[in-house]
Amino acid sequence: MSHQSRRDFLKTGALGSLLLGTGMLTGTSCAPVTQRGKAKNVIFLVSDGMSVGALTMADLVLRRRDGRPSNWIRLLEEGLVVQGNMDMASANRVVTDSAAASCSWGCGHRVNNGSVNIGVNNEIHKPILPIFRDAGRSTGLVTTAEITHATPAGFAANTESRRMGEQIAEQYLERRIDVLMGGGDRHYNPEKRSDQKDLYIAYRAGGYHVVTSKQEIGSAVLDTPFLGVFDNAHVPYTIDHIHTPELMKTVPTLAEMTDLALQKLSRNPNGFILQVEGARVDHAAHSNDPAGLIYDQIAFDDAIKIALDFTENRDDTLVIITTDHGNANPGLSSGSDSDFDKIHHFKHSAQWVAGQMGESRTISHIKEVMEEATRLHITDHEASALRDVLNGEYNHVASRRNNRSSVYGEILSNHTNITWASTSHTSDYVELASYGPGSEALEGFVINTDLFKVMVDTAGIEERFLTF
Ligand SMILES: [Zn+2]
Repeated sequence: MSHQSRRDFLKTGALGSLLLGTGMLTGTSCAPVTQRGKAKNVIFLVSDGMSVGALTMADLVLRRRDGRPSNWIRLLEEGLVVQGNMDMASANRVVTDSAAASCSWGCGHRVNNGSVNIGVNNEIHKPILPIFRDAGRSTGLVTTAEITHATPAGFAANTESRRMGEQIAEQYLERRIDVLMGGGDRHYNPEKRSDQKDLYIAYRAGGYHVVTSKQEIGSAVLDTPFLGVFDNAHVPYTIDHIHTPELMKTVPTLAEMTDLALQKLSRNPNGFILQVEGARVDHAAHSNDPAGLIYDQIAFDDAIKIALDFTENRDDTLVIITTDHGNANPGLSSGSDSDFDKIHHFKHSAQWVAGQMGESRTISHIKEVMEEATRLHITDHEASALRDVLNGEYNHVASRRNNRSSVYGEILSNHTNITWASTSHTSDYVELASYGPGSEALEGFVINTDLFKVMVDTAGIEERFLTF
C-alpha cells in the first residue's frame, strides 16, 4: 500500500486504526513511497528514552540561560523539517525497549523486547548496516552508551538477547562496521571478557585504528576503519563530564564523536549510513535525574548541529531525528520560573551523588553531597527520606515510587518543579523530525518499521542486498 493510499485508508477511520494501531502490526506491509535512490547518505540521530518533556526542558534551559532555542526546536520553528509522530510498539509489548525499537528501524520488523534482529519465529533479519555495507556504502555507530548497547546493536547485530555484549562486539568486527565510538571496554578488554579474548588485538589485526581516549583521536587516519572505546561501560553523563576536568581530557563529547564519524564516513564516494545515539537521556529518566536528563539532551542537540553543518548546501543526505520511546514522562509543573532556573547551577548527576554517598548515610552527609551536586539546601525531612530508601526502610503507597530514583526525583521536584510519572519506559507516540530526500514520507503518523523502508528505498539499495 502506498503512503498516499495509507493516508486515505487511515482517514476512513475504524478499519485503518484497527490495523495500524499500537501493537497490531508485527511487520510492515504499508511502506511509504519515497524518491527511490535520491539519498547517498543517511544520518539517523536518536535520543534514547526522550519524552517530549525532556525535549521541551532542554529547549527551555537553552532559551532562558543562553538566549537561543535548541537546534531540534529551531528546525521545527523555521519549518525546515518534516514532523511526524511514531508508534514504537514492539512485537510483544505496547511499551517497547531500546533493542526492539532500534530493530524496528534497523531491519523493518517488530521483534520481541530484548532481542536483537531475531524475529518472533527465530527469523534472522539482516540489519541495515550490513545491508548498506554490501551495497558499497560506509557504516558507522556512535553512542554515549556502551557501543554494544541495544540501540547501536539494533542497526548491526543479530543476537537472541541485547545482553550479549561480548558477542555483539565480535559481530561488529566480522561485519566490518567502519566507525564505532562509545563506551564498553568491558566487552573488548581481555581482563574483563568472560572468554579472555583480546578484541582490541583482533580489531587491530583486522585493520582497525583503535583508540581508548580522546587524546589519541588526533592520530586517527581518516581512511581506516575506526574503533574508539572511551569508558568501561557507558560514557559519563554530560553534567559530570563538563564538571570533571580529567574526563574532559579523556572522553570526547557526542558532538565530537559525530563530527569525526562524518569526516571518516563521507570519504566514501558511494555514501554512508551513520547512527548517532544520545543514550544517557534514557538512563537519567530511569533515575529521575533532571540535570542528567537535560544536559544529555543538550549534548544530543549539539550533535544535531554537527549533522546540520554537514548537510548544509547538500541535498543527498536523509537526516532522521527521533527517539525510541518515552521514559518517565518528566515535565516542568507549574510554579516559580526561578525554581526551574536552579537547574543551571547543578554540577553532578544522581549517579555521582550515589557514588559520593557511599555507605555513610547520616543526614548531614546526605545534605552536604546533595548541596555539592545541586547547589540546593535540602531539608532534614528530605534527607531522611533519601536515607530511609537507601536503607530499605521507605514505604510509599505507590509501589513504583518505592525506590531511590523516585525519592531523589521527588526531593528535587520540591525545589525545581520538575516532576516525573515513573522510572520506566512509556508508550507515548514519539517525536519524529526529518529532512532531505525521503523525509516527505515521514509526515504525520508513522509506524516504526516504516523508517527501514524509507532509508533503504531512498538510498536506492537493491533488493538482493536485503538478505544475508
Ligand atoms: Zn531505558
